[in-house]
Amino acid sequence: MTTMRSTEQCSACDEDHPTFQYHGKDLQRIALCKSCYDVYMAKEMAQYWKDHIQEEMRRTGKS
Ligand SMILES: [Zn+2]
Repeated sequence: MTTMRSTEQCSACDEDHPTFQYHGKDLQRIALCKSCYDVYMAKEMAQYWKDHIQEEMRRTGKS
């Protein structure tokens, strides 16, 4: 009898927490635990808004 664990190790901290799978860039699947996912999302959102604001400034001609 084999015991299959459905949880993958977190790809960010490698700790044995329950992980969830998320789609990263290029639809790459990544396994992250909850706390690492929060960090990941915060980073993604920060980058998104940085790009968005820069684009907006470029369009409105503000420097
Ligand atoms: Zn983690």
